[in-house]
Amino acid sequence: MNTIAVIGAGTMGNGIAHVFAQKEYQVHLIDISEAALEKGVATINKNLDRMVAKSSISKELKQETLDRITTFSSLADGLKGVDLVIEAATENLDIKLNIFRSLDELCSEDTILATNTSSISITQIAAVTQRPEKVIGMHFMNPVPIMKLVEIIRGYNTSGAVTQTIMEVSKNLGKIPAEVNDYPGFVANRILMPMSNEAVETLQHGVAGVQEIDTVMKLGMAHPMGPLQLADFIGLDVCLSILNVLYEGFKNPKYAPNPLLVNMVTAGKLGVKSGEGFYDYSESKKAEKLSQQFAK
Ligand code: NAD
Repeated sequence: MNTIAVIGAGTMGNGIAHVFAQKEYQVHLIDISEAALEKGVATINKNLDRMVAKSSISKELKQETLDRITTFSSLADGLKGVDLVIEAATENLDIKLNIFRSLDELCSEDTILATNTSSISITQIAAVTQRPEKVIGMHFMNPVPIMKLVEIIRGYNTSGAVTQTIMEVSKNLGKIPAEVNDYPGFVANRILMPMSNEAVETLQHGVAGVQEIDTVMKLGMAHPMGPLQLADFIGLDVCLSILNVLYEGFKNPKYAPNPLLVNMVTAGKLGVKSGEGFYDYSESKKAEKLSQQFAK
């Protein structure tokens, strides 16, 4: 496997392009937005600079890594001669299904089609292609150049040989793959999201404040970040949408999103990206004060 395509140059796509290019794969980075491509390459450049500054890579390796990345705004051009595609476009079912219909048409029949989706069924994505045995989930964690895990998700029809190939590719990247089956939330989000939801419920019931809940989980359970802070980083809208996928997928009330989470998303408090969530990332610090009041 020599040449891979990454679709989407956003948060995850540029990280995925970075790690493949650093490990000597030729990378075609594809996005519908020229601005996203420019921003994606600028982010890779900045992250490589940081690695050079820490002496974890040489200046030469930085340059070679950048030289191995070519950007494309046309899907047809970017898919020429690729052995593997990793789709990391916006988390939206229609967008993903349309991309996979096009991938199936444009890629050679041997090309493996992977998706980095956090919550959409791999089996459903595979079903719009004529090669469901070659469709697989390759769920990288954010930030991709740093996080070791890749959750490898086997759809209902994914073949053993394709799974084996993708496990090997992940190891070549210096990552640690874990193979899981295709059920809502896979493993990572099936366990993480109910924990975050329970943290919101604990806050809503006034058991403790934001800081206290996060302190208990950080210092008591040795988690690097408390569940509320982590939810702010992931994006409260993303957490809500994954909880809804779990709730709909299992029809089990234990996954029902807490109403405080729903209210915050409705009010536009999405966490770090909007400047305010359980913590305040702006000047006023309003969210922290409110959450402290809430707990009293
Ligand atoms: P993002 O919004 O940062 O980037 C998405 C990119 O996809 C944008 O640049 C957009 O222009 C591009 N795009 C949209 N439609 C496209 C199309 N038809 N063709 C080509 N490009 C298109 O999103 P993200 O956070 O990088 O998430 C990407 C995927 O990774 C999602 O499936 C998400 O669930 C998954 N994921 C995200 C995280 C995370 O922490 N952000 C973690 C794991 C997995």
